[in-house]
Amino acid sequence: MKRREVFQAALATASLIPAGSAQEVARRSTGLPPLTIKDVKVITTSGGRNYRWVFIKIITSEPGLFGIGTANNNYQTRAVIAALEDHLKPWLIGKDPDRIEDLWQSAQMRTYWRNGPVNNNVLAAMDMALWDIKGKRAGMPVYDMLGGKAHDAVAVYDHQGGKTKEECLDTLQKSLAGGYRHVRIQFGGGGYGGGGFIPEGKGDRPEGGYQGAAFDEEQYVDTIPPVFEYLRAKAGFTPKLLHDVHSHMTGMNAVELSRRLQPCQMFFVEDVLPPEQIAWYRNIRQICSTPQAIGEVFSHPYEVIPLITDRLIDFIRCRVAATGGITPMRKLVSLCEIFGVKTAFQEGGENDPVNQMASYHVDISSSAFGIQEENHFPPVVHDMFPGIAEIRRGYLYGSGKPGLGIEINEELAAKYPLGEIKGGGAYPTDRTIDGRVVKP
Ligand code: MG
Repeated sequence: MKRREVFQAALATASLIPAGSAQEVARRSTGLPPLTIKDVKVITTSGGRNYRWVFIKIITSEPGLFGIGTANNNYQTRAVIAALEDHLKPWLIGKDPDRIEDLWQSAQMRTYWRNGPVNNNVLAAMDMALWDIKGKRAGMPVYDMLGGKAHDAVAVYDHQGGKTKEECLDTLQKSLAGGYRHVRIQFGGGGYGGGGFIPEGKGDRPEGGYQGAAFDEEQYVDTIPPVFEYLRAKAGFTPKLLHDVHSHMTGMNAVELSRRLQPCQMFFVEDVLPPEQIAWYRNIRQICSTPQAIGEVFSHPYEVIPLITDRLIDFIRCRVAATGGITPMRKLVSLCEIFGVKTAFQEGGENDPVNQMASYHVDISSSAFGIQEENHFPPVVHDMFPGIAEIRRGYLYGSGKPGLGIEINEELAAKYPLGEIKGGGAYPTDRTIDGRVVKP
């Protein structure tokens, strides 16, 4: 018997309480028996592509009642699986899933050392699953438990770019025609830093040294602003334009790039600096008003807090699955609201539909919401995740079902096991002409 049937049967036999009445609501919220966590299941899948997705399913003592969450970490996947299986699961079984805040706090202290990426992935998975359980039990989407919708939908920005300015314009027009108001434009083709690369083997290089495409900061600073000047000249100032530097700059080059982009009235420039160099944001603020976004590689709250409380950035771009889940993110968005900073939660190509949905619930219930990064999935993933969020004409829509509103078809997920993790799954880094690593 399914959970809903159990519930309905219990309701029918107990009394003739009208659905939606105060008594029935009270019964739903307080009249149910205590819950216990019975099991924690780790679910992995390649999603029919080369994803390295890791989910958990927290199973409760109530028949059919469970919650799901994601611990997706593309670069330390096996470490996350071991942390869930060997460390979280034995600790979590037997506990009360209703006490989300207490479980989050105690789960964080459980490892003594804290705020690292792997443990934050683990906390996020647990936290999302607990909110999913609570929402299913309450018969409410998570956003309703966070205060309800603060705006009508979650605007998302599209990803475009081209090898030439003309190609960038073509792809921008394509996105605008598709209903997107916000479009991120990357230049040069290929990976991040496009427009700043000295071609493979070219330029004056150290003998016997690195011969691959080499990133040059000054070249990038000279190349990118004219691309956006061209786009503004051709497409006007109505489209909201974004650009991701992916932490490739150092100090004054980040300041100078931001200054030169000011006439282009960017919606935001993302990650002009790596987290290690956030102090330079103060210099950027003193010289120009180009809006700044950062945060996708943050996992420690201390990286975020001074940027918000000193109003040195305009958008915070944390990933919910990398920063501990809905519980810490709802606190972060409250901090953002107080200090007038907006959110632009990160998605990215290797991200998963459960994280997208968790972001949606925080986004839609927050007055600090700014924008969400777009992410779309192949058809098999849509089959694998019933209730998956949908993007239509520049807006992301959740399913509106109780809890997170998304499920995992475990049988289908199992048909696509994790593949071999080549090279340990390392994130590929760019290098300069003299072979130095460029921060990603
Ligand atoms: Mg980025």
